[in-house]
Amino acid sequence: MLTERYPSPRCELDYASPFQLLIAVILSAQTSDKAVNKVTPELFGRFPDAPSLAKAPLLELRKILRSIGFFRAKARSIRGTAQAIMKRYGGEVPREMAALITLPGVARKTANVVLGEAFEIAEGIAVDTHVARVSKRLGLTKSTSPPEIERDLMQVTPRTDWGKGHLRMVLFGRYHCTARSPKCTECPLLDVCIAPESAAVRDACHE
Ligand code: SF4
Repeated sequence: MLTERYPSPRCELDYASPFQLLIAVILSAQTSDKAVNKVTPELFGRFPDAPSLAKAPLLELRKILRSIGFFRAKARSIRGTAQAIMKRYGGEVPREMAALITLPGVARKTANVVLGEAFEIAEGIAVDTHVARVSKRLGLTKSTSPPEIERDLMQVTPRTDWGKGHLRMVLFGRYHCTARSPKCTECPLLDVCIAPESAAVRDACHE
């Protein structure tokens, strides 16, 4: 159903290289993609790659990032990530989960997004707040723990769909199955949804 609705889903972060995608995803933690897209034109205009960002003054980074949440910590993380990529990976974003999660500010979710989006490598399914909410409402998991949700989703999703499947759930959660006011009355998944939010709508439809 989500495949028909979002046949060619795209990440909504703006980026021009795997490195910029990695940095944008780090910045998007607990921050909307829209807010990140407002700061990255200046950030990537001045520090477009690992060599330049590794040498960026922290104060300048903080100034550029000040409109997004946790900007001080994120300034440290993105510069630390650029430095680690220069020191350990010859300036190239590594293509292995084990290597990516050693970078500052990079956990499994960020690594999954970068591997899937930049390199089309399916290592797992990135679980963010939208994926967690939609998965629970659709009965695909009972867990609230991202690693367990990821494990549950990997069991019911073909590996070839892990990357796009994540993007579809993000878009569905961001614009349709929203946290506060899900659009249950016009939802194609109403009949399979187990969320309390959908029960009244389903009962009314079947009366
Ligand atoms: S029926 Fe409502 S809660 Fe269930 S998936 Fe659709 S929008 Fe989300």
